[in-house]
Amino acid sequence: MSLTNEQLAELLALEAEKHEGNKEKAARRASRKAFGWPREVADMVEQGESLKTLPAVGPWVSKLMQDWLDDPPEVTEPDRLRADFMSLASAKHTLATEWDLRDELRGDLQMHSTYSDGRVSVKEMALEGIALGHEYIAITDHSKGLKIAGGMSEEVLSEQRREIDALNDELEQGNATFRVLRALEMNISPDGTGDMEPKSLEELDLVLGSFHSKLRIKEDQTDRYISNLRNPHVHVVGHPRCRIYNFRIGLWAEWDRVFEEAKELDKAVEINSFPDRQDLNVELLEIAAEIGCRVSIGTDAHNPAEMHFIEIGCAAAVRAGIQPDRIINLMPYEELLGWTASLKTRV
Ligand SMILES: [Zn+2]
Repeated sequence: MSLTNEQLAELLALEAEKHEGNKEKAARRASRKAFGWPREVADMVEQGESLKTLPAVGPWVSKLMQDWLDDPPEVTEPDRLRADFMSLASAKHTLATEWDLRDELRGDLQMHSTYSDGRVSVKEMALEGIALGHEYIAITDHSKGLKIAGGMSEEVLSEQRREIDALNDELEQGNATFRVLRALEMNISPDGTGDMEPKSLEELDLVLGSFHSKLRIKEDQTDRYISNLRNPHVHVVGHPRCRIYNFRIGLWAEWDRVFEEAKELDKAVEINSFPDRQDLNVELLEIAAEIGCRVSIGTDAHNPAEMHFIEIGCAAAVRAGIQPDRIINLMPYEELLGWTASLKTRV
């Protein structure tokens, strides 16, 4: 049995603890990046390919991994900070052997542009969405409360909305069916309130409500989630746990109550596909699957290349057994807009 990328990531994380300075940094970084490598390192080595083509792999990390593959050490269960993360390589395997949800998915419902902390324009993200075969993407830049990520004011949000309208018109005139959803990742304070004028949210197609502060609290945060869900402008709870691989464990709640509330309100919880987030993770998604609340899959991409990580979110939904009619990204564009519109009339 050769080592998987997930096992190599754990060995790298433990290796980092033995060093200081550059080696510590290199091993930690490679451990995190390993979840986004598209192929199993063991297969690459077997085929005589260089590992240095992989992100975050230099000569030292490459040698470490080769040595481990030659003589596999015992790999222990990961620390809680690193538990229940899957590699992109294993996600691809799940999609190829169980259900190719990626192939049926119609769009990616979380990403950022230069309107907040993304690297490229709305149009460049849209072009990548088209290249990936999506029917739509949602541009979910940050709202004004998140200053560190260049959050948008109401004025900037409406400027972006006009740019998206013009882009959709251009696509329609070119007979393209692809559409960009006017969306937002709204910053939600610990008491569940948003940071934008309600009026500026009314013309949006989709609003994610996410927490970005007080993320290391250890007490039960069920009420915080319920307030977020009950916020009349929120359709999807973004990266619910707020965990980060090998850095932050994330928040804790009585998840069954959170998912019951989402189901009751017909709202969705996100599967954030970013390799070092994977939030919700499979274990919690199994509870969501049982309760039957809606889920939304997004990459949280900050550049076009990161949009490929959608496979991780898709594989998480497949592994957890989320039913197709619960995955909002399987809805055609018009139906998706109909769903968010129906939520507006419920409140
Ligand atoms: Zn966020």
